[in-house]
Amino acid sequence: MLELEEARSRLLSSVEPLDVERVPIRQAAFRVSARLVDAAIDLPAFDNSAMDGYAVRAADVAAAKIDSPVTLSLVGKIAAGQNPAGDVRVGECVRVFTGSVLPPGADAVVMQEDTAVSEAVPQVVRVLDPVKPWENVRFRGEDVKRGAVLVRAGERLSPGHAGLLSATGVASVEVFRQPVIGLIATGSELVEPGGTLLPGQIFESNRTLLEPLIARSGATARVYPLVPDTLAGTKDALSQAFAECDGVVTSGGVSVGELDFVKAAFEQLGGELDFWKVAIKPGKPFVFGKLGSKRLFGLPGNPVSAMVTFLLLVRPALWRWQGAPVSDPRTIPCKLGEPLVNQGGRRHFMRVSVDAKGVARSAGLQASHRLRSLAEANALVDVPPDAVLAAGAEVNAIWLD
Ligand code: AMP
Ligand code: MG
Repeated sequence: MLELEEARSRLLSSVEPLDVERVPIRQAAFRVSARLVDAAIDLPAFDNSAMDGYAVRAADVAAAKIDSPVTLSLVGKIAAGQNPAGDVRVGECVRVFTGSVLPPGADAVVMQEDTAVSEAVPQVVRVLDPVKPWENVRFRGEDVKRGAVLVRAGERLSPGHAGLLSATGVASVEVFRQPVIGLIATGSELVEPGGTLLPGQIFESNRTLLEPLIARSGATARVYPLVPDTLAGTKDALSQAFAECDGVVTSGGVSVGELDFVKAAFEQLGGELDFWKVAIKPGKPFVFGKLGSKRLFGLPGNPVSAMVTFLLLVRPALWRWQGAPVSDPRTIPCKLGEPLVNQGGRRHFMRVSVDAKGVARSAGLQASHRLRSLAEANALVDVPPDAVLAAGAEVNAIWLD
């Protein structure tokens, strides 16, 4: 039986980033950049006004006061997007708006609120408050200098990155392709939600909880119909999914029962099992296998085990496929509000609910068929074998996001 870290590193070392594709910048957020991208232009591209107001020469209005305003003559107007028609000379000002080009000669902008204009003499602006040189001016290149690195290869693009690239004129970027993941649930007892249960049958829930987790991991899930517990049925389902997808996630059918067919079906299709069984609870029977460049992730059928093994083992591989640096799962520091007891010989990833004060409590009963503990939990605490973590203990919980 493999330790979790060993299982994870074996799995990660057998997954390479997929090929690179170009996508429009509006579809780039949450993808992983395959290239370093630098700024083709300065941002802002020109000195401009940070306010609606008047472009002035600061020296002209140094003595301005509310009870003794300085008067300037208004010689023009620059709307955002327009080019200045001329200079601002001594005693003059130009109407500007946020983002308007700062006209030559001006070295500051007086905000509109600090001015008064009478309707009778609209070409005279009274300035009621002084401005310092360069006040309310946004300088060319102060945000980003041309040539500066905006994103690196292997960096996951946030919506902010995509906006930044757009602002420098980038219309498309090269990103790693997202894996297509086939999602198969095996089990003759399974019925689609909405159907009718016969005695002994249960509604299927693993595909429902795994599909959004796959999407959250930047991959695309392709969900297949339910597969009964037969060797032929399992082989057919796997062979179709392997033909259409980069990787296949199955649930159920990986234990020791004579009706567990995933491993046998996979091997008969030419697949090679890498490991089976990881020393964690829940989720001991976890299968990882290779079929050419494709990969099998065989999750246990119990919903809690399926989710925990997905998060601990499959998700990192999905990120590796997309060229992202794989980090350990995100953790949050918290304090236990009650003891967590692990009486077993394997590390137990217990579902906990962490409140706003950072206090973690067990999210219901910790059995791997108990779906409610998943629904109520927002984190997992890694409790060592045969150990008790006391109330008040400080732990880093794995965040379930
Ligand atoms: P297995 O790993 O196939 O032995 O299944 C272990 C337990 O999980 C059994 O109680 C199954 O009925 C249940 N189970 C398996 N697959 C699913 C599924 N897709 N949705 C809900 N429960 C499942
Ligand atoms: Mg089964």
